Amino acid sequence: MTKQVGEMAAITVAYSGVPRVAPMPPWIGGFMWKKTPSGADWISVALQNDGADLLFPCKDHPSDKAANVQMHITVPDPLNANGPGKLVSTVKNKNGTSTYNWEMNNPISTYSIVFNAAPYKLISDKYKSITGETMPIDFYILPESYDKGAGLIAEQKKYLAFYEKYLGPFPFRAVKVGIVETPHLGMEHSTNIAYGNQFKYDKDGMDWLLLHEFGHEYWANLVTASDWRDFWIHEGFQSYMDTLYQEHLHGKDAYMKAMVARQKGFKNKQPIAPREPKIAYQVYMSEPDYVNSDGDIYGKGAYFLHTLRYLIGDKAFFNALRHMAYPTKEMEKFTDGRQERLVNTDDFLTIAEADSGMELDWLFEMYLRQPKLPKLIVNRKLIDGDRDVSEILSLEWETPNNMPFNMPVDIVYDGKTQRVEMRDNKATVSIFGSSPKIDPDGWVLKAQ
Ligand SMILES: [Zn+2]
Repeated sequence: MTKQVGEMAAITVAYSGVPRVAPMPPWIGGFMWKKTPSGADWISVALQNDGADLLFPCKDHPSDKAANVQMHITVPDPLNANGPGKLVSTVKNKNGTSTYNWEMNNPISTYSIVFNAAPYKLISDKYKSITGETMPIDFYILPESYDKGAGLIAEQKKYLAFYEKYLGPFPFRAVKVGIVETPHLGMEHSTNIAYGNQFKYDKDGMDWLLLHEFGHEYWANLVTASDWRDFWIHEGFQSYMDTLYQEHLHGKDAYMKAMVARQKGFKNKQPIAPREPKIAYQVYMSEPDYVNSDGDIYGKGAYFLHTLRYLIGDKAFFNALRHMAYPTKEMEKFTDGRQERLVNTDDFLTIAEADSGMELDWLFEMYLRQPKLPKLIVNRKLIDGDRDVSEILSLEWETPNNMPFNMPVDIVYDGKTQRVEMRDNKATVSIFGSSPKIDPDGWVLKAQ
């Protein structure tokens, strides 16, 4: 039957088979057939990089979210099966199995359409959003871990307060804040965050994995990259939030220290936001081997935001961050999916320029569109015999292909900080007194 453009058609696709066992979950995905510590069955699925077509037929591209999803999962008793959205009903079958019927009515990325099954216990709690709405927190936890559950929920509430403060209301408050204990490390499965960090908290009692995966409810599930080439918007923004949480807990010095520590692992081999379409493995791991994790979309993406914060100042930066999450106050009210957006890197450029009143394309070109870092060349000329000027400092940005880069830098001398503006990638400064320190706090991402 021929169909015309715009005509609706309902299509039933029947499929069956044995799903692939995940070779290296959650990075190289598929099914996990595991056992809990006491020997019960523990089933899990993670398939972000490979795509949900490992599990079911779909248009497997980040730009194509499912408008709504129903999952009907039948498992042997006493296993409990859970997924994204809300539990509509549980049907006890006569053959010693139960069917769990789940429904998600917010648009959802196909790689979030997964389930977990184990003899889970459910810990339910509530959280009051900054909007005043109360939302459920549901944590599906193994019986062996049950005693640790309350501690993780207490942490989760702190993360909710942090994200709502900086980005706006939790986007899925009409659904739930969902966490499920998994045999793999973790994944941002919307409204049912996979948590496999085994309750390993740091000295502050913080669980970095839960903070990170939960944050993806904003940077992945609320704000979704429209192509893999823009996935730094998921991982870079989220990594920035991971470090910002240090400032939230301990103040600016702790944030600066944590950010500078990120610099060690940068590869600088491929652009963070390439212009050509990519597949998942190309952005999460470096070509051509796809085995050695690249990771620049995480840490280098976060550092780019850090440098942007320095350039445009806190007020404009935090406005831009919030507007990237929710462009308007009106959108903060929605919970039915209208608050979700597909975005690309240029969308953030537009927002950052609007909030700062500055032209920023040169900054995005340098740090996101090509892989090499600018290098600050410093020449010092000591002056003899002049009682006032003791040193002339010449600064110049050495950039790939002579790209324009008028990035200011801080110099500190005599206990004072001065921001040195650049012109044609250069600046000259006269220094009085003690010898200067250049960008001592590490605000600007540059070649070391
Ligand atoms: Zn992540």
